[in-house]
Amino acid sequence: MAKKSLSDLDVKGKKVFLRNDFNVPLDGSGAISDDTRLQASLPTIRELLEKGAAVICASHFGRPKGGPDQAFSLRRVAERLSRLLDREVLFCPESAGDRADEMKRKLAPAEIMLLENLRFNPGETKNDPALAGQLARHIDYYVNDAFGACHRAHASIAAICDFVPLAAAGRLLLKEIEYLSLALEAPSKKKVLILGGAKVADKIPVLRNLVGKAEHILIGGAMAYTFLRALGTPVGNSRVEEEQLENCTEILAQAGALGTEVLLPLDHITAQQIEPEVTVKFVASGRDIDPGMMGLDIGPETTELYRQRVAEAEMVVWNGPMGVFEVDLFSGGTMELAAAVAANRGVTIIGGGDTVAAVNRAGVSDRISHVSTGGGASLEFLAGVELPGIKSLTEK
Ligand code: ADP
Ligand code: MG
Repeated sequence: MAKKSLSDLDVKGKKVFLRNDFNVPLDGSGAISDDTRLQASLPTIRELLEKGAAVICASHFGRPKGGPDQAFSLRRVAERLSRLLDREVLFCPESAGDRADEMKRKLAPAEIMLLENLRFNPGETKNDPALAGQLARHIDYYVNDAFGACHRAHASIAAICDFVPLAAAGRLLLKEIEYLSLALEAPSKKKVLILGGAKVADKIPVLRNLVGKAEHILIGGAMAYTFLRALGTPVGNSRVEEEQLENCTEILAQAGALGTEVLLPLDHITAQQIEPEVTVKFVASGRDIDPGMMGLDIGPETTELYRQRVAEAEMVVWNGPMGVFEVDLFSGGTMELAAAVAANRGVTIIGGGDTVAAVNRAGVSDRISHVSTGGGASLEFLAGVELPGIKSLTEK
């Protein structure tokens, strides 16, 4: 069964419950430090308002401990959204209850309101039907545009679909599905998958799903060291996940059998600690990482090799930084690869919270075809998991 989109709904004069992902990062003073997710939600909001819907937005925000906590209030998001839309965004200090019912009932066509953090209700993360029923009260249509939350079977994502007459995907959700699906397709294009980041265990399901579907897989970040160790290469004190060694060996064998080239770092930037002003040691190709030293970035020879593969690709999918990019000394590989991906004229897709931050830091995100708003959700999608939020729309 196909999912419905906004084009299938006649929303004029209707009350639309719009599930967004407004889970934005804050700086030390509690102000929104990056509004990418808010910007990404604007097309659907504007379309609904222009078509004359009364728009009731809802989102989770952070991880409050099962009750109201002002540190996790969405009020700041209502204010920022109001500025971005250049119109009033009414704020309701609860997401379910009498107050919310009253405001939803009174909301006029082409007006917009935002409900308080859904996770102030313990029922949200429990996919509680009672909460879902309350959220759906006075609602004509449900629209899900919260890709970043679709891997969670929560009340506002999954159960709510049982209580609304019609459910559809928003523009952002559709765009995410459209691009990330390209990454899963059989290799009709010259596809390069770049994987890096902290934990190899997180990325194994993606590798298993995409090996054989990409021509080249370039591996960097901490996860590279579990692979190198699996091949018997000395990696010093680099981060290794012993319990994943077997998985790595299996994936390398599978790649060989399916004709996917897996590249691992040849040279390394190493140090004893992850600190901004630590002594670094360059380990050239063919040399061993010293005991006590950690590999913290890919070296220049690896960067150049990866850059060439990216330059020749028709499609690039990237999740996970090549090194500890938060520290300048170890950011070179990630920054150069970001520039290489941005220079590629094919389809380029970036997923993962830290990778997106790295690409933003490199200043090239506007030259990427698709920067996913979903961290965990994009990983699960790439691993081939059917996301509960998408499943419930399809079944509706
Ligand atoms: P994403 O959020 O994009 O999915 P991850 O969370 O998997 O990415 O990984 C990002 C983290 O990996 C960063 O905080 C980075 O510092 C860390 N990292 C990258 N390379 C290394 C390395 N060689 N050793 C230790 N940590 C690393
Ligand atoms: Mg991360």
